[in-house]
Amino acid sequence: MSFAASVLTLYPEMFPGALGLSLAGRALEAGIWSLEAIQIRDFATDKHRTVDDTPAGGGAGMVMRADVLARAIDHASPPGDERPRLLMSPRGKPLTQAVVRELAAGPGAVILCGRFEGVDQRLIEARELEEVSIGDFILSGGEPAALVLLDAVVRLLPGVMGNAVSGEEESFENGLLEHPHYTRPQEFEGRPIPDVLISGNHKKIAEWRHAEAEKLTGERRPDLLTAIRNLRYDPSTKLLSVWFTPSGDRYDYEGVEPEVYAAFTAAASKGRFFNDFVRDRYSVRLVEYGRRR
Ligand code: SAH
Repeated sequence: MSFAASVLTLYPEMFPGALGLSLAGRALEAGIWSLEAIQIRDFATDKHRTVDDTPAGGGAGMVMRADVLARAIDHASPPGDERPRLLMSPRGKPLTQAVVRELAAGPGAVILCGRFEGVDQRLIEARELEEVSIGDFILSGGEPAALVLLDAVVRLLPGVMGNAVSGEEESFENGLLEHPHYTRPQEFEGRPIPDVLISGNHKKIAEWRHAEAEKLTGERRPDLLTAIRNLRYDPSTKLLSVWFTPSGDRYDYEGVEPEVYAAFTAAASKGRFFNDFVRDRYSVRLVEYGRRR
């Protein structure tokens, strides 16, 4: 079963684009994933093949029409299609490695690329589109965002990366930014490779890398270094509540087995246990906002 991507766009020529090369391109050729780029304009009904119109209520720009987009989506994703339907959108939930991993574990995705000011709200609701953002900036269209999302997903598909381990050691997979890398030459412009890396002591090397990753994360992305402040577990509902610091937020994880909670409370590093065995494994709800920044 391969990962099937259907992209709805006004610019199908942008696909596969960068994804036709390198790792993703080879995987595409090998049939590990498939990509179909669908021209939204083909679902317009007037002779000018119009896909947009002026915003209700006035204002600048144009809005993509719900009726045209609905026909395109219904064509790409007929009843019974199990794939999530995504809308690339700066208002969407942030694309994170956890989201990427979840998509990569599924059958594929139907991805709508917006243009102009965006799409009619009724389409988003009627077709239950999940809005996904690749960051807090505005692109001119959803296509580059779709390429980014698919690139991140495809490299996780089984058989795509030569070295399966490297996928798991990247930044974010363990909640930290990655440690620095070095390769030959031994000395570059007077800068040697750190001694520990040529020591051959694998335990020391792993410790050094972890310490560097923590240091770097603390300097650049302290927001990623959340710690667990408190745990509470209700065996009758199998609900695990986790309080985080510094945010003070509380998240409830559903369907957690008592053994998992017992191991959690016993774990020497709560953060690591959480990353390895809790986060992304259960359905979760943010139930309490702590103090906001
Ligand atoms: N008026 C909109 C921006 C429209 S940009 C607003 O202010 O929110 C046009 C299209 O580009 C969007 O419909 C969306 O599909 C895409 N896009 C822009 N920025 C994006 C981002 N950060 N992530 C994902 N898609 C984005």
